[in-house]
Amino acid sequence: MAPTLTNPEPEATGYAPNDGGTGRRTDHRGGSVTERNCKIVCTLGPASDDRETIERLVEAGMSVARLNASHGTPEGRGRVIDRVRRVDEPTATPVATMVDVAGPEVRTAPIDGTVDLDAGTEVELYVGDDAGGQRIGLSRSVAAVEPGDSVLLDDGRIRTRVTRVEGDSVYAEVLDGGELAGRKGVNTPGVDLGFDPITEADRRELELAADKAVEFVAQSFVRSAEDVYAASDILDSHGVEVPIVAKIELAEAVENLDGIIDAAYGVMVARGDLGVECPLERVPVIQKRIIRRCHETGVPVITATEMLDSMVHEGRPTRAEASDVANAVLDGTDAVMLSAETAVGDHPVTVVETMDRIVRDVESSEEYDEAREARVPPAEDTRTDALARSARYLARDVDATAVVAASESGYTARAAAQYRPAVPVVATTPDHRTRRQLSLSWGVIPRHAALPDDGVDELIIDAVQTAIDTGVVEGGDTVVVISGMMRDLEGTDASNTLKVHVAADVVARGRSVVAGQVAGPLHRIPDGDLTDLPDGAVVALPEWFDEEFHGDPTRIGAIVHERLTMTGYPAVVAREVGIPMVSGTEVPADLDGEDVTVDGDRGVVYRGRLSDPR
Ligand code: PEP
Repeated sequence: MAPTLTNPEPEATGYAPNDGGTGRRTDHRGGSVTERNCKIVCTLGPASDDRETIERLVEAGMSVARLNASHGTPEGRGRVIDRVRRVDEPTATPVATMVDVAGPEVRTAPIDGTVDLDAGTEVELYVGDDAGGQRIGLSRSVAAVEPGDSVLLDDGRIRTRVTRVEGDSVYAEVLDGGELAGRKGVNTPGVDLGFDPITEADRRELELAADKAVEFVAQSFVRSAEDVYAASDILDSHGVEVPIVAKIELAEAVENLDGIIDAAYGVMVARGDLGVECPLERVPVIQKRIIRRCHETGVPVITATEMLDSMVHEGRPTRAEASDVANAVLDGTDAVMLSAETAVGDHPVTVVETMDRIVRDVESSEEYDEAREARVPPAEDTRTDALARSARYLARDVDATAVVAASESGYTARAAAQYRPAVPVVATTPDHRTRRQLSLSWGVIPRHAALPDDGVDELIIDAVQTAIDTGVVEGGDTVVVISGMMRDLEGTDASNTLKVHVAADVVARGRSVVAGQVAGPLHRIPDGDLTDLPDGAVVALPEWFDEEFHGDPTRIGAIVHERLTMTGYPAVVAREVGIPMVSGTEVPADLDGEDVTVDGDRGVVYRGRLSDPR
C-alpha cells in the first residue's frame, strides 16, 4: 500500500492518485498520520498559545511549536511549554517545542503609537525607552557604525544613512521614510556592533530551555560555529543536551555556513533579518544553497518568515506566497515555518491547513519526484550512513511500503531520511524526547516503542508493528528495516542492521511452548472436539480449558492456549505430535475463521498467512 497524497484534480495535473482528499489516515490511538514529508513549524503567540488552539494546530499539521523569546516573559513561556507537552502526551503524533532566543538584537523603544520619519530629515538614534520628533530610542547602542553606514529600521522599511556618531548617539539621514512603531527590529548590515553573542536575557531563556528540556533552541544572530558552541556550553552547564537550530540571518553567517552546519543540530533560513542584512535579491539563492548544504550533510533545515504573510489578516494567501512555499518544498527543505501568521494572525488554524494543502499538493507532483530522485547525496563515512543510503534504493527495488527505522538517539532515522526515500520513514524510539525531536525531520513519522526484553528480532517485530499501527504499513506489505545502536538491548547486536521484511500484524503475544511456524484458519474448540476441525486449523483454547481432545490431534496446525502453561494436557500433546504452540495469550474473537500464523519460536500470533514474518 503506497502512501497517498491529496490531489484534487489528478487528470488535469498528471499527479499521483489521491486518497479521496483527506491525505490522512488515523492510527490506532486516534493520532493522525502525517504522510507529508515537509514539516510545519508554527510560532505560538497571543492568537494561538491556548490549549485548544494548540490542539487544533497539531490536528491541522503543526509538528514544532516555536516560542519567540523576543516577546513575553520566561515564566509565560514556561507555561506554554507545559501546555504543548500536555497536548503531545496523549497523542501518538508528536509535537516538539523550540525556544527561539533573541540574541544581541536591537529594537526600537517600546512606545505606543507611531512616529513619522520623513525622507531627507535627520534622526538621532540613542539608547532609551522613548521616541518622538526626530529622536528614536533603541534597546542598545549602535554607535559602532561609521558615517556612510546604513541603519535600517522595521525590517528595512525605513532606511537611514549615518552622518555622524557622538558618544552613544548616532545621527542619520532618512533615505526612505515611513511610520515607525515600537519594538521594531534595527539592523546595521555589514557592521559588527561588538555585542556578546549571548545576552543576559538569552541566558535566562537557555536556563528555561534546559529546565524544561525543550526539544530545540533556535539561536538568533549566529555569526560562526563558535557562537553555537558558546550557547551549547551554557545549555550543557545546566546538565541537559538541547540541540541548537542556528538561524542564518547575518552575511557573516552565510560566509561561515559550513562551520555552523557542523556545529549545530539544525539550521533556519531566517529570511526576515537575512533580507535586511544582505541585499534582498540574494536571499532566494542563499536559501537554495543553505537547503542544499543541509541536505547533503543530513542537518534539518527550516525555511522561515513571511511564507504566508498576507494570511495574518486575509483568509487566502497570494499566489506568490503559495509558490514560495512550494519552491522551498521542491528544494527539499525539512520544514516550513509560520511566524506572525500563527502568533498574532486572525486565523492561525486556517493558515496551517492552507500550508498543509500546498505542501501535500507539491509532494504529489511528478516534479517533486524528479527533484527528490535527482538529489540523493553521497553516503558519509559511517556504516549507518552507508546502510541508510542503501535502504532508500532497497525500498525502491523491493517495492517497499516504508523504511522502518528503529533508532535510540534519532541518528539512524535522520540518516534514513537524508537519502530521501520515496516512501515514509517510520521511526521508532524508546525515548519520548527523541520522538518529538524527529518531528522536525523530513519524511520521518516518529513513534514511541519500548525496547523489547530480548534481541534484535523482537526489536524489528515491534518496530514493524508500530509502523502497522500508524496506518502507513499493512500486514503482508514489504518494508525495509534499519536499526541503529540500542545501548540497552544487551547481548545483541542490533546496530547496523538492514533487512527486507514482510510486515506481520501481531494480534497476540504469549509464551513459546513448542517451536515452529504454521498458518491456518482460527477455530475455538472449548470442548476439545476435533471432529469438524479443518485440517491444519489453528486451535484456540480458553483459559478454563480442562478437557482432552476428541479426534485426531495430527489435524491440528497450531495451538494457542489462553492459560499461561508449559505443562497442561494441550502442551503435552503439542510436544508429542510436534504442533507449534503459544500459551498465555488470547487471539481476538473477530479473527475466528480467519487465517492467522502462529510463530511458536517467538510466542507470537500474526494476522493472515505469512510465509516468513521474520
Ligand atoms: C527571521 O529573521 O526571519 C526570523 C525568523 O527571526 P525573528 O522572527 O526572530 O526575527
